[in-house]
Amino acid sequence: MSFSPSITGLSGPLAAFTDRLGTSQDDAFARLGAVFVTRLPAAPLAAPYLVGFSNETAELLGLEPSLAHDPGFAEFFSGNTTRDWPSAEMPYASVYSGHQFGVWAGQLGDGRALGFGEVEHDGKRFELQLKGAGRTPYSRMGDGRAVLRSSIREFLCSEAMHHLGIPTTRALCVTGSDQSVRREEIETAAVVTRVAPSFIRFGHFEHFYSNDRVDALQALADHVIARFYPHCRDAEDPYLALLNEAVMSTADTVAQWQGVGFCHGVMNTDNMSILGLTIDYGPYGFMDGFDANYICNHSDSQGRYAYRMQPQIAYWNLFCLAQGLLPLLGAQHEESVRSEKAIEDAQRVLEGFKGRFAPALERLMRAKLGLELERDGDDALVNRLFDATNANRADFTLTFRNLAKLSKATPPEAAADAPVRDLFLDRAAFDAWAVEYRARLAEETRDDAARAIAMNQVNPKFVLRNHLAESAIRKAKEKDFSEVERLASVLRRPFDEQPENASYAGLPPDWASSLEVSCSS
Ligand code: AMP
Ligand code: MG
Repeated sequence: MSFSPSITGLSGPLAAFTDRLGTSQDDAFARLGAVFVTRLPAAPLAAPYLVGFSNETAELLGLEPSLAHDPGFAEFFSGNTTRDWPSAEMPYASVYSGHQFGVWAGQLGDGRALGFGEVEHDGKRFELQLKGAGRTPYSRMGDGRAVLRSSIREFLCSEAMHHLGIPTTRALCVTGSDQSVRREEIETAAVVTRVAPSFIRFGHFEHFYSNDRVDALQALADHVIARFYPHCRDAEDPYLALLNEAVMSTADTVAQWQGVGFCHGVMNTDNMSILGLTIDYGPYGFMDGFDANYICNHSDSQGRYAYRMQPQIAYWNLFCLAQGLLPLLGAQHEESVRSEKAIEDAQRVLEGFKGRFAPALERLMRAKLGLELERDGDDALVNRLFDATNANRADFTLTFRNLAKLSKATPPEAAADAPVRDLFLDRAAFDAWAVEYRARLAEETRDDAARAIAMNQVNPKFVLRNHLAESAIRKAKEKDFSEVERLASVLRRPFDEQPENASYAGLPPDWASSLEVSCSS
């Protein structure tokens, strides 16, 4: 079940943790075998130090947070002890394929991430992964490393998304090193320890489908069902039920992205989690001023992954997943009609995306507007707000947050309107919408105070704006990691007022408009 702490070269409480880390459970992903993973040690990271640490993720794993100060901690979570691990417990890189920017890219795989074992705590099991731990058989032209900048961005956003209530992989820590890495310029290497129930992607299924390995495809699907969706086994077609789970969870997650103005940036099928988690934080972005066509990834010249495209792209990606699952589908049908029926079944399940996504987003938007009742015109009301916000590039986060201050009294109270109204250059456009909104609020029974409390629980005050991450990164490059910690702590309470941290909720400074994030990481 686990391996001896003495082998890890550690002693004391950290060794006790590593004693719980293992991959030999029969149902661990890594145990699916050599068709799925290649075991290898991490490449050593020179003189690593701790850059960021999440107490909460540590607690999730039953890891005593004070261990972050253990001298061996950074060494361990950079993968530096793995050379001495027994071969059966070695870290592992998994193989997958995928569609990148709408084009079949063939084999990809964990080019710089290594599975680090699984830990069980409080009845939940988590897989750990070191991202940036060196070359693997799937690195292609890459160096297997991740830079400090992108590692901090991944760490901060995983934690921010979780606290926004959005399904995501988590991050335990970032370790850094002075070891240099070449990107557009010379940067330094870092490793993020990611934590999730599973890192399996749509691309894993596409891989075995494209290689005609139906046996492996089935083993993979059975693994996901057994570990995460055991009820699917009772379905007439368990694999169709699995597809349905992916459709539903993906629809829910993307609806939540839309609700906070989050853009993933690289929704390739290899970056889509089978569990519907937000995964692989690269050139993501939270919108400042609302722009439905917002493209956060500087490398995405066509805008394939623009904000407004995300739901459609998720749906497209689910088609790829369905295609990958096809050989497993329809076993309950007569052999002569099986493939035809399987396609029909898959299409029906895929259609379920629309039936899940649209109501999920509608529910969310109603809550964001503080509406308890359902009325026919609500959709149009939301759309007109989006139109006005879009035309004015009004700040996405603050528009919703400040809307809670508006009073439903007529005639309008100027002071209550001002915080949201002043975000619109065209005040008249806001006023026109506010007339409709107030009329709609008049149908609600809740008073302003109760509505504001409810709205503040769904409209965050604090999101990981690009410039906030950038400020933390700039300091971290100077070896001052205090801003990573401070920002992470602000983002852990995104719905709280935190008046002492008001500066983190303000409009971006002018310099933020020149920030560009690309696939380079
Ligand atoms: P991404 O766009 O980050 O999802 O990466 C796409 C593929 O490229 C994945 O297979 C990654 O593992 C791989 N990759 C990205 N960056 C590197 C790197 N620096 N070294 C090795 N592989 C990489
Ligand atoms: Mg990826």
